[in-house]
Amino acid sequence: MVASMVCSLSRNLLTDPVINNYLFKIKHHVSLASLSTFAIGGLAKNYIPVNNNTDLVKILNYFWQEKLPFKIFAGGSNIVFPDNGLSLFHIHLKAGQLHKTNSSIIAGAGVSLFRVIELAIVHGLSGLENLSGIPGSIGGAVVGNAGAYGSSISEVISQVKIWHEGKIIWLKKDNCQFSYRESIFKQKPYVILQIEMEFNKSDPRKLKKISDEIIDFRCQKYRQGLKCPGSFFKNIVAKNLPPRLLNNIGKDKINFGKIPAGYLLESVGAKGMRVGDIEIAPFHGNLFINKGKGTARDVKKLAVILKRKVYQKFGILLEEEIRYF
Ligand SMILES: Cc1cc2nc3c(=O)[nH]c(=O)nc-3n(C[C@H](O)[C@H](O)[C@H](O)COP(=O)(O)OP(=O)(O)OC[C@H]3O[C@@H](n4cnc5c(N)ncnc54)[C@H](O)[C@@H]3O)c2cc1C
Repeated sequence: MVASMVCSLSRNLLTDPVINNYLFKIKHHVSLASLSTFAIGGLAKNYIPVNNNTDLVKILNYFWQEKLPFKIFAGGSNIVFPDNGLSLFHIHLKAGQLHKTNSSIIAGAGVSLFRVIELAIVHGLSGLENLSGIPGSIGGAVVGNAGAYGSSISEVISQVKIWHEGKIIWLKKDNCQFSYRESIFKQKPYVILQIEMEFNKSDPRKLKKISDEIIDFRCQKYRQGLKCPGSFFKNIVAKNLPPRLLNNIGKDKINFGKIPAGYLLESVGAKGMRVGDIEIAPFHGNLFINKGKGTARDVKKLAVILKRKVYQKFGILLEEEIRYF
């Protein structure tokens, strides 16, 4: 199967130096665990690191033309890779370009969110400072409409450039179907290439202060070297809950309009629970930690147990924020 894919790839090699170059860059049997913050996953049979959008589009067009199945990821900070690895082509978008004009920023999907926020703050562009400290790429952040402290990335987005089935299209924000940790990019196999953001002006010192405080606060929860994918389950949007279920939750538990999944999980004794080497943090009910040799199987098993417990106590079905790849 893999051999036939590579044969198929080689047919057009002589006509395109970029593809030619990338064929030689394809690595085989690369550890996916080493590319994920959760440190889980088997081997990628065909792994392609890509550093810019021009090459990315060429490769995507080539795969499309040759009908080669592929998957794309970037920071690996919101993913649970499968224990058995995958035989598809794995595109790892590792970098991209960043441009600023007046009150807008255009970022390649592979640029780290950290770099985008830093650029915005230095130029007094407000809207992303509450997202300080979230790891991963801006493309990954757009897929999951990443956010924190009452803000989400969709608030600053004006349009998103995508590749889909050989075509490149700009999607206006209204067509991206953003909602809490959701977007059209979770539903459709679009590849995000670029993101255009529009900001309000503010005082850079004020923005930097907010950002520093948030990073300090986050460092207490996510200690250096912790193997995790951030929050595991989504919080619950309070206004979407039927009153009979909402009435069981104290109003003081609602934060930025959400019932924290951590609160629900802690109420059913999640802290410190363990399956194999996957442990729920003793200090936070919504934090799955890989203590060493954790597997995707352990993760799924623990997730099922916790979902059942929360459903039995509150009638609320938790939904994963992480993505099983
Ligand atoms: C310590 C820690 C703290 C975190 N805190 C937060 C938080 O406060 N708020 C929050 O929202 N999240 C948080 N996260 C989760 C994560 O950092 C974000 O979701 C991040 O935006 C994911 O980006 P990524 O590049 O790592 O995506 P990846 O994990 O690489 O991919 C995530 C998904 O996006 C898809 N994808 C990635 N790039 C593209 C692309 N160019 N085109 C199409 N699809 C693509 C992948 O296929 C995958 O389905 C945290 C994670 C960790 C480890």
